[in-house]
Amino acid sequence: MRDFPVLSQVSIARLNEPLNEPFPISSGSQSATSNVLVRVRLKDGTVGYGEGAPSTTFNGDSQDLTYLALSEQISFLEGKEIADVGAFLKKLDSRMPPERGAARAAIQMAILDAWTRFKKIPLRSFLGDAKKSVFSDVTVTLISPEKSRLAARKIARLGVQTIKIKVGCDLDEDEKRVLAVLVEAPKARLIIDANQGYSAKKALDFLMRLKKRGILPALFEQPVKREDLDGLFDVEKYGGVSVCADESAYSFKAVQNLFRRPFPSAVNIKLMKCGIIENIKIADLARKKGKILMIGGNIETALAMTTSAHFACGRGDFSFVDLDTPLWFSQKLWKGPSIGRKGLYDLSKVQSGLGMEPMPRLKKLVHF
Ligand SMILES: [Mg+2]
Repeated sequence: MRDFPVLSQVSIARLNEPLNEPFPISSGSQSATSNVLVRVRLKDGTVGYGEGAPSTTFNGDSQDLTYLALSEQISFLEGKEIADVGAFLKKLDSRMPPERGAARAAIQMAILDAWTRFKKIPLRSFLGDAKKSVFSDVTVTLISPEKSRLAARKIARLGVQTIKIKVGCDLDEDEKRVLAVLVEAPKARLIIDANQGYSAKKALDFLMRLKKRGILPALFEQPVKREDLDGLFDVEKYGGVSVCADESAYSFKAVQNLFRRPFPSAVNIKLMKCGIIENIKIADLARKKGKILMIGGNIETALAMTTSAHFACGRGDFSFVDLDTPLWFSQKLWKGPSIGRKGLYDLSKVQSGLGMEPMPRLKKLVHF
């Protein structure tokens, strides 16, 4: 007798949750989530959860567009038997608009959560089973140097080894922010992220300023505009620091194009850019080309961030892990693994699926 799961119900709900403090970067600031949650139910009662966290400043995606793209797939999904989850998700993905990355991520997450719960394996095992834990960095956003110092003190007390610092506005202020962080965390490994805020010349000037202070960042994310591929190349070639494409690396096609050249040598994978299935293709290509891998996200609750931790653990070759936004929520929304001391995501105790269950507070907030 066949024992394939059948999708019996798909529910979606908006999640508007304030952050405990705003998250300013050079392209804008966010002070609450505008996310969409998905819950799928299988015929045998197994459930799976997914989250879409669109970023309007990143690519024009939004909560309304995410909600709409998901609602359009409900009648296709309900009643479907899933024999081969990979083939099923590819078919589903081909039905959805490519630019609805958050919606694609959310429904794929929910189906994979339900599928791996049904199969009684953790998602990380399904994705490769290379590791059981990863360490995330923690971010200092685009705040004043004095506030940056206090933020870095908190991060150092958490025992976190890698600090990501947002830059990309004013060179003097950006330099002061980096110096302020290093006062509290002198041994931290540094990632700097300009979120497209510089020209190549300004980015190289900034690196020169840091070099004069004896500071060499481990990674420089997206110094220039997303379409400025020459700029990305030049900053790495002349700056002597690994450059990571983030906003420029928004799809498999974009990444294929980026990888035609030796620089940038790193790419930031985010599930919200183009979903889980397409990101597996990107990660496979990066591995083949010997590129440095980073995993990050938008402003996501622990559900989507822990999914990315499963992705990074399963594959095992991520040099930079940037999954810290659960720290921006004052209330815990999910029971399950999330960022802990030293930035650790410990997935060793997850028996099946993502290992996440909604907390009573989330059940009150969200009505599927
Ligand atoms: Mg970035």
